Amino acid sequence: MRVWVCGVRGSTPAPGPEFVRYGGHTSCLVLAHDGERPSLVLDAGTGIRLASALLGGRPFEGTIVLSHLHWDHTEGLPFFGAGDNPGSRVDLYAPAQGDTETVLSRFMSPPHFPITPGELRGSWSFLALEPGETRIEGFSVLALEIPHKGGRTFGFRISDGQVTIAYLADHCPTNLGPGPAGLGEYHEAALALAWGCDVLFHDAQYTDEELAAKAYLGHASCGYAVGLAKAAGARRVLLYHHDPPRTDDQIDSIVAGYERAGVLVEAAAGGTVIDLPS
Ligand SMILES: [Zn+2]
Ligand SMILES: [Zn+2]
Repeated sequence: MRVWVCGVRGSTPAPGPEFVRYGGHTSCLVLAHDGERPSLVLDAGTGIRLASALLGGRPFEGTIVLSHLHWDHTEGLPFFGAGDNPGSRVDLYAPAQGDTETVLSRFMSPPHFPITPGELRGSWSFLALEPGETRIEGFSVLALEIPHKGGRTFGFRISDGQVTIAYLADHCPTNLGPGPAGLGEYHEAALALAWGCDVLFHDAQYTDEELAAKAYLGHASCGYAVGLAKAAGARRVLLYHHDPPRTDDQIDSIVAGYERAGVLVEAAAGGTVIDLPS
């Protein structure tokens, strides 16, 4: 499996010289089977623009799976040139909550936006994803509902049969209680998604110190992400969904604080590629 990390920010893009190393695009990962073209996109934040470049001008043929419908996970959708292309075939899944195209049209239609989802060029299917395991583009995709704020939100566990990644981009485990360290519960769905995975991408919008004042916004802290990785036996955790004001230097110092965490802790950086050979 190959994973292109295309967008790593939460909430809003973060351009500027203090953000160039970790990147300013909002949430998006692109997956491919070994040696094959990108076929599975997780979330359509502004990072999805980079996915078009990966295809070298060819139209996208594959699936986009949205974890939920907040702006930072959907605002790149109309700017995904390889999908908005007469030759594309795009299946788009969102967590089931009524007709997916109608729900998407609420933010993507005039007067909010010039076009509707139905006006994207190519062959698009708008589909509803239920919790459970679904076979998508040759991957096994386990979707489970996780607590967040303001809309149904899924975390994903994705496997090609050999290697497995977990993706919990927006997650508010304190909704279920303080947990052993006061940073949120290591609840059943989070553990099932992350269990023994090769790489865990996890919401780390806040520092542990910031959490008490910010938890009402629906996110997790860095310490929870690391704690979950250890509790679930993940091999490696990538702090993800960085707070927009968090500078490169601040992210470096957060990661440095986990040198002896007992699990490999890194911060997800836009524009990087993670090869997980099967
Ligand atoms: Zn988000
Ligand atoms: Zn969100």
